[in-house]
Amino acid sequence: MKKKSSLRAIHLLKGWGGILTGRSPLMSIEITRECPLSCPGCYAYGDDHLGGEKNLRDLSDFKGDELVERVVDLIRRYRPLHVSLVGGEPMMRHRELETMIPRITALGTFVMLVTSAVIPIPKHWMKFKDFRVTISVDGLPEHHDVRRKPATYQRILRNIEGCDVNVHWTITRPMLERDGYVEEYIRFWSERPEVNFIWVSTYSPQRGEDAVEMLRPEHYDRLIREVPELRRRYPKFLFNEGIARTLLAPPRDPDDCIFSKMSVNYTADLRTRVEPCIFGGDPDCSRCGCAISSALHWIGHRKLAGPLTVGHLVRGSVRVGKFAANLRPGVREALRWERDLAAAAARPDNLVQIASPDNKQEKAAAGD
Ligand code: SF4
Ligand code: SF4
Repeated sequence: MKKKSSLRAIHLLKGWGGILTGRSPLMSIEITRECPLSCPGCYAYGDDHLGGEKNLRDLSDFKGDELVERVVDLIRRYRPLHVSLVGGEPMMRHRELETMIPRITALGTFVMLVTSAVIPIPKHWMKFKDFRVTISVDGLPEHHDVRRKPATYQRILRNIEGCDVNVHWTITRPMLERDGYVEEYIRFWSERPEVNFIWVSTYSPQRGEDAVEMLRPEHYDRLIREVPELRRRYPKFLFNEGIARTLLAPPRDPDDCIFSKMSVNYTADLRTRVEPCIFGGDPDCSRCGCAISSALHWIGHRKLAGPLTVGHLVRGSVRVGKFAANLRPGVREALRWERDLAAAAARPDNLVQIASPDNKQEKAAAGD
């Protein structure tokens, strides 16, 4: 049976109820500071990722039961529809994930594990409900195996055998300098039986950055030209011309970014928030190539009625949510939009135990 694609207006609207009560539908947690890879351009280890005073490697992180309980507490507090467990390399904590994932999904939150697949993914995890693995594969072996060693193609293919995964690709400039590269990549992963969907982002720089990975205008034009035909021929490829065009007109700033508005992100000490979005630091929104941000921005411009767009609805709801949270003790500290309250909210003595949600487990941002 053909699986349904994921990021659609309906998912945004399903997050609406949560926003109206001041909560974030989307969450990401860097569950460990450890990673055996050292990919060029990795934003998680960038000096500015956490605002400049410290970086991911300087933090103390958690292991064992303490990690599981603290992550589950965060989920209880925010009650997101969807959480991405990232790193570092989250599979460095695979023993903890074994119990953490079912504990989170039992709270009504869909879990996305984002991994380099450098560590084998246990096949029995595929039986977990409301759970999906996304593997990061940055280009064909000529680029990926250099950038992401030791998570080479050969190793990934071995480690995902018998599993069910999505693939995420961050396109960098050198990959668009050869004709046919994009199709070769999409075809290779489309033909893999383990792969459900393929997501594509483009390299998203910090402001003032001038990296060799950054795309030039002609590269975006080329993607816009090539994408509709690829989408038609490879249904696993979750991209369309509208999203591609959004790459040329991304959100003006974090305030204009629906993804930033709808998500809250924690790093490995489980206290520090990654702001204003998963990239942290001072991201250059004008060159943002994030797949989820682009898709939400594109959906945000879809008309609901007359001039009213999904984006208007989300932004209005954020304002209502702030107001509602002020009226409800125990909710205000879980607000996405109150940065100054984040540290206070994270103190164990301030944790508020909130009953499990009764919302349907939702496959929101990148599941199906
Ligand atoms: S696998 Fe991810 S966290 Fe690790 S170095 Fe590469 S991009 Fe960074
Ligand atoms: S996701 Fe992209 S557009 Fe949104 S705040 Fe981050 S860099 Fe800016």
